[in-house]
Amino acid sequence: MQSPINIDTSRALFDTNLQSFDLRQYNTCNGCTMMLENVDGHTVEVKYGGNPITIRGGSLPDDYLLDQFHFHWGASDDVGSEHRVDNKIAPMEMHIVHHMKKFNKSVSAVNPYGLAVLGFFFQIGDHNSGFDQLLSNFPDVIYKDAHKSITPFHLWDLVSTVNQSYYYRYFGSLTTPPCYETVIWTLFKDKITISQDQLNTFRTLLSRKAGDVSGEEDEYISDDFRPLQPLHERSVTSNDPALLGEVGGHVVSDLLEDIKQLKQRCSSTGAPAARADVVVVGAGVVLYLLVCLSVCRFVPWEV
Ligand SMILES: [Zn+2]
Repeated sequence: MQSPINIDTSRALFDTNLQSFDLRQYNTCNGCTMMLENVDGHTVEVKYGGNPITIRGGSLPDDYLLDQFHFHWGASDDVGSEHRVDNKIAPMEMHIVHHMKKFNKSVSAVNPYGLAVLGFFFQIGDHNSGFDQLLSNFPDVIYKDAHKSITPFHLWDLVSTVNQSYYYRYFGSLTTPPCYETVIWTLFKDKITISQDQLNTFRTLLSRKAGDVSGEEDEYISDDFRPLQPLHERSVTSNDPALLGEVGGHVVSDLLEDIKQLKQRCSSTGAPAARADVVVVGAGVVLYLLVCLSVCRFVPWEV
């Protein structure tokens, strides 16, 4: 199943079992390296290297290691994000990509749940100094394929203002080729705030190489988002308690607990299951007699 999707919160399943994340290692950089790149004139990305940074928790099936983070934005503020929440589009979305610790990057990419992407939506507001260092390097990667080793900073600086307690979870794919369907998606409910000027700095990046002068106006990277993909039979879960107040909100954990208890009751002694059988058979007999009686009342007897 593919990504991105629209998250319809009225259909999202409330799941109290979704744990909070441990992103403390985002606040470390022990010998780490960062390579900033204008990737193929489509997006800007920071590739992480050096000592691994691990994320834990978030009900992920394993620990995951940081690979890179990149951004999707629009030419104007009314477009930009790949995912939508209740069909609302954010002006930008950041994807922090990780792979499963027990595999290497390329093996993870083709294994179910091999990749974990944390998605953060943006909103325009006050200046966010956490982005100052990253954005100060953008003039060096204006052109397609330009890249630069930058002074490492803590990834935590970019996400520290976000309440990381509540998020949406579903299973999907990479949104760029080869679109492997191996991604555990986490989209945080709370948004990162940056200023209009900071957002406009992303819009200074170009989709052409240095020296490629076509005579036309410069083409800026923008609208680098994939169209929405159908949800099909997938569910979106969330630990956001606000969902409980919404029409159509469901409690996954309670349902699962009910099923678990029912199974335990039926398998522990056998007696409840036997009693259930008796009830079903008894109800069948009563129904049969009722049908007979009603038929008998309206069919004349041969005499
Ligand atoms: Zn992305």
